Amino acid sequence: MKVLQEKIRQHNFYEEDEFLQKLLQQYMTPELFHYADQELKTFGRRVAGPIDERAKHTDREGQPRLERYDKFGEEVSKVWVNEGYKQTVKETYDTGIVGYVHKDIPELGKKGTYTYSFAQGYVLSQAEPGFYCPVTLTMATAYLLDHYADEDLKEAYLPHVLATGDTELYEGATFLTERQGGSDVGANVVEAVQDGDHYHLYGEKYFASNAGMCGVAMVLARTEGAPEGSRGLSLFLVPWEGNNLRIRRLKDKLGVRAVPSAEVEFTGAKAYLVGEADRGFYYMMEALNLSRICNAVASLGIMRRSYTEALHYAEGRNAFGRRLVDFPMIQQTLRKLRVKLEKETAAIFDMIQLYEKVTEGEATPEDEVLNRLLIAIMKKESAEQSIAFAHEAIEMHGGNGYIEDFVTPRLLRDAQVLTVWEGTANILALELLRLVNKYGAHTIFIDLLREKAEGSKQQEIDRMEERLIYFANREQVEQELEAKSLMKDMACLYEDVIYEKL
Ligand SMILES: Cc1cc2nc3c(=O)[nH]c(=O)nc-3n(C[C@H](O)[C@H](O)[C@H](O)COP(=O)(O)OP(=O)(O)OC[C@H]3O[C@@H](n4cnc5c(N)ncnc54)[C@H](O)[C@@H]3O)c2cc1C
Repeated sequence: MKVLQEKIRQHNFYEEDEFLQKLLQQYMTPELFHYADQELKTFGRRVAGPIDERAKHTDREGQPRLERYDKFGEEVSKVWVNEGYKQTVKETYDTGIVGYVHKDIPELGKKGTYTYSFAQGYVLSQAEPGFYCPVTLTMATAYLLDHYADEDLKEAYLPHVLATGDTELYEGATFLTERQGGSDVGANVVEAVQDGDHYHLYGEKYFASNAGMCGVAMVLARTEGAPEGSRGLSLFLVPWEGNNLRIRRLKDKLGVRAVPSAEVEFTGAKAYLVGEADRGFYYMMEALNLSRICNAVASLGIMRRSYTEALHYAEGRNAFGRRLVDFPMIQQTLRKLRVKLEKETAAIFDMIQLYEKVTEGEATPEDEVLNRLLIAIMKKESAEQSIAFAHEAIEMHGGNGYIEDFVTPRLLRDAQVLTVWEGTANILALELLRLVNKYGAHTIFIDLLREKAEGSKQQEIDRMEERLIYFANREQVEQELEAKSLMKDMACLYEDVIYEKL
């Protein structure tokens, strides 16, 4: 007896997503869109096919493994990854997902954009959010080197970080978190001792993703005599291969098992200062904004995959003599998911346009505040939604949704990290307080809504303005207690305004 029509598979994560195509057409020059559209068709097919198969294998049987010693007993701290994983690395970076943000696309004779890169990330994370993570770490590494490294360091490392098959690829990594603090980065104690034109690092990093796979890591450490707290942290480039460092162990994680996350010990690792000493925290905070957008894009990927899996299952499965998709409550759930997904995708790609402006150096101080604000509220909202969507996808599949033969359990396991990575909800709420209390971000936000809404949604915007003014005048403790629910409502109103004007 055939209980389910096999209509579940998608064939191309890009071509079947008309909403994404519409957004890209709006936000790209015709020339770039023409190029990106062709490339994404190829990539979308590959991600829905072999990359998706490999992602399943990597999660179940082929997880990265630590090979701490070689056959002679020498400590090597290598990470083993399966052959398919290596193939995915090659196929993904060769598309220019990192490289073409910073260097010319040969066919066009000009650079790509973040919008294009994030579209690739959105497609990729529908199959493999755990693999999109190393890509985003490499993006952050490229950003830091491009903006703050001196010419010698750039010349030696940047072409490898931006590799698109033209030279050896060095994936990146960003190591901040130590045992005593992730959110509280100012508590970092890893020490940097100067030795002529370079440094040696001593100490350990407790969550170090892409350890063993990266060619270079960007690491925060404290030079001798530097002040305590975040102001005393400097940024270092640490080459991985042949350096004095070791992996103590790989974390045994709930999800995103494709990325090796390690505890790394520095035993005098050679390191190069990036930018000015003691400015490392500020550089990393800039890169963190980029990583938060990546996190939002990965969340969108999980939301989209959850929605499409739920839809296809409902179309193929019968209960009580009817297809699931014919029942009113099922239709209601699917409609709710589709609308929220489209709103969130539209809002995040709108936010990315402001980010493009900021990184091109064309932004006003108000734009910069707004950029940070939108990133904080949308990172929080999208991460929470990715969990809610993965939950709904499981529910739609009934018992099958809970079983690892289907992608749904992995979607939930992978989604669960997105609320922690790059700042938890509480830490993002503290960012809202900072932006409101120090820079008046609430009034800039309301101005943005009025401008984008062009006369519609007046009542909702007026009510939000009243609420934000009230919030801005409260004591800190009251603000902290209100901040997260306020952020949720800010995110939803921003999404409504953008969606209505599409
Ligand atoms: C799979 C995985 C991979 C990771 N990879 C990396 C990596 O590559 N590089 C890296 O640097 N880090 C990495 N991390 C670490 C991650 O960034 C941190 O876990 C995260 O920043 C939270 O820090 P923490 O774990 O120390 O939690 P804590 O900072 O101890 O927070 C615990 C809880 O307390 C809350 N909290 C903390 N301070 C406040 C406050 N002032 N007010 C209210 N609530 C507060 C937090 O919101 C959280 O809910 C990774 C983590 C995971 C799970």
